[in-house]
Amino acid sequence: MAELDQQELHREMTAWRRDLHAHPEFGFEEKRTAAFVAEKLRAFGLEVAEGVGGTGVVGTLTRGSGNRAIALRADMDALRIAEQGTQAWRSQTPGTMHACGHDGHTSMLLGAAKLLASEGGFDGTVRFIFQPAEEWGRGALAMLDYGLLERFPFEEIFGLHNMPDLPIGHFETRSGPVMSAEDNFEILLKGLGGHAARPHAGQETLVAACALVVNLQTIVSRRLSPADIGVVSVTELVTDGIRNALPGLARILGDCRSFRPEVSAAIEKEMRRIAEGTAQAYNVAAEVAYTREFVPLINDVGLVDEALAAARTVLADDAVRVAAEPMTASEDFARFLAHVPGCFVFMGNGGTAPLHNPAYDFNDEGLLHGARYHAALVRRRLGD
Ligand SMILES: [Zn+2]
Ligand SMILES: [Zn+2]
Repeated sequence: MAELDQQELHREMTAWRRDLHAHPEFGFEEKRTAAFVAEKLRAFGLEVAEGVGGTGVVGTLTRGSGNRAIALRADMDALRIAEQGTQAWRSQTPGTMHACGHDGHTSMLLGAAKLLASEGGFDGTVRFIFQPAEEWGRGALAMLDYGLLERFPFEEIFGLHNMPDLPIGHFETRSGPVMSAEDNFEILLKGLGGHAARPHAGQETLVAACALVVNLQTIVSRRLSPADIGVVSVTELVTDGIRNALPGLARILGDCRSFRPEVSAAIEKEMRRIAEGTAQAYNVAAEVAYTREFVPLINDVGLVDEALAAARTVLADDAVRVAAEPMTASEDFARFLAHVPGCFVFMGNGGTAPLHNPAYDFNDEGLLHGARYHAALVRRRLGD
């Protein structure tokens, strides 16, 4: 097996990453990105399946005679954000950019595929999963619905995300809950609009909506156990009123986070009760729509140790840590973990702009760390 020149691989991954950054594509529209990925994987000698759950791609690499299989996963989609960066590789698509570093994740997984295809060092099968539409939480389900687990079976799955708060070259993760569920809600308050000078003649909805926004804040503070983590955020309040006309309709929208299904269920139940009670108190009607967009991301205890050990073979010992607290952001990778055990880790992106910021850019200094971490993990889990 030919040993790859790591500096050359780093240069190559940097070129891929910047090419992908310049050509961002929104979830399920990743046609160019998927073709880019498939072409590279074929060139490295992998078996490639395209169109796996929309624009998803799966590469398969087998060495030796082992019958174990593990999966490594990257996400390919960009966001509808107008880039403010001035770098030469900035987005060429107005209003769309890689503001979450999925261009980096895709390039690192391609780098790992090249490394493992060239050098081997494992016995079994590796599935390289490039998923579409992570940002709006639909891509993993689309791949699972397509039959990912039946057509490309694997026993464990690993993923990573870059993290601007962490120094470059640092990795961290934790056992159990790592990232939260995300639920969305929309509450409609319906009454009867009318003249601003004659509120008693109608059933206006704005005062009721303001009371409801405040009352919803008692779900976490008064209805959940202090030992449970929950977030209820009202993010929009829109009415059909104008300056001298009271609104007959108010829409309240928002977002809830939690780490346990029981907490998510309790938040929904309390929200429905409070919305109905408040509406009744103000003589209007309430309709509540509550949807679950992301499930909580739960790491496998044993595989967290394996992931940290693999990271320590690539990075300085003291740069690999167990994270103290879970995050209340959400991640579509959780959908895979509902079926097979695995581990999701965070990798430092250094002092860049925050994720989803118009000035964000993935830090190319981290590319080799990510690719080598993936390869180390495969060699550890599929040791020959
Ligand atoms: Zn994101
Ligand atoms: Zn992301």
